[in-house]
Amino acid sequence: MKITMDDAAQMLRDAQTVILTSHIRPDGDAIGSTLGLMHVLRAEGKDVRVLIDDEIPRIFNVLPDVDQIERPVKGQRYTADLLVVCDVELGRTGESVPSVDAVRLLNIDHHVTNDEKADYLYLDPDAAATCEIAYDITRTLGVTPTLDAAICFYTGIAMDTGFFRFSNTTPHTMRAAADLIEIGVKPNIISVAMEMKSYDEVMAQVKAIRNLEMFFDGRVAAVFIDEERARTVTTTEGLLDKLRVIEGTQVVFFMKWLEKDTYRVSMRSKGTNVSRIAQKFDGGGHIRAAGCTIHAPFAEARTAILDAIGEELNA
Ligand code: AMP
Ligand code: MN
Ligand code: MN
Repeated sequence: MKITMDDAAQMLRDAQTVILTSHIRPDGDAIGSTLGLMHVLRAEGKDVRVLIDDEIPRIFNVLPDVDQIERPVKGQRYTADLLVVCDVELGRTGESVPSVDAVRLLNIDHHVTNDEKADYLYLDPDAAATCEIAYDITRTLGVTPTLDAAICFYTGIAMDTGFFRFSNTTPHTMRAAADLIEIGVKPNIISVAMEMKSYDEVMAQVKAIRNLEMFFDGRVAAVFIDEERARTVTTTEGLLDKLRVIEGTQVVFFMKWLEKDTYRVSMRSKGTNVSRIAQKFDGGGHIRAAGCTIHAPFAEARTAILDAIGEELNA
């Protein structure tokens, strides 16, 4: 059931023990929204934990108390008055949602593809980031975010908007970010931390780009990373930003080996609806940024994603 922001704020107010969680392969918005709300709610005297069922990339070490994020322990039950699922629908949290016994569950998200299965859902596809919503909810609670919370919310907003460059950046996004900077966030510290790569990671990216292929008369640029290449291409963070600058491209993507017959696809577009492509493979996302996992041998997966993109380009 969809609820209003006032309702969502009231649910947070009513809970004394809260568990926050988000999606596997967490990004800045996933970590920023959960950790930021943790700081807000702890400052309100609540008992709060964050569970994320994955490793936290080290670029996020700049976020206050990121080390307090827990990975759910197999077989352990967690209890709370309220479970808050941020930046994802209920199905993509790994073991987090299944291991929590909560009286109520609140889902806060900005993905158009959200399956709306949560009992209580605050969904705003026009919000640039879940962190933008989390900031608004904090204000709705009548609370000014602490600096720790502000750093987290700013990071999520900055990451999901490509540092305020993507089409999801609205006047409201900028005002929220301005408020957070007023609280004390240093934009340069966040951007330096988020873009940091090791020498090896930079070289891995160079190797990945060497395998760049163009399709559909230059409208699509892609990098395919098979099992062998996946051993040397250790990070794909920022890879698509390098492809999207190629003149004439409408869709850029990579397909990377995850495990046997399993490939992760990550897509960006300049208007083509890539979330519709991702949904064909049970994935999701936004119109201009989406992803999915394809279960097939390499050659088959490659053909499947190229065909799906071709169809959408001609739609
Ligand atoms: P990424 O390409 O991983 O940065 O993801 C782009 C957008 O698509 C993000 O909003 C993700 O949450 C979403 N997304 C990526 N992979 C999946 C997936 N397998 N299922 C649903 N949504 C996804
Ligand atoms: Mn996310
Ligand atoms: Mn997001």
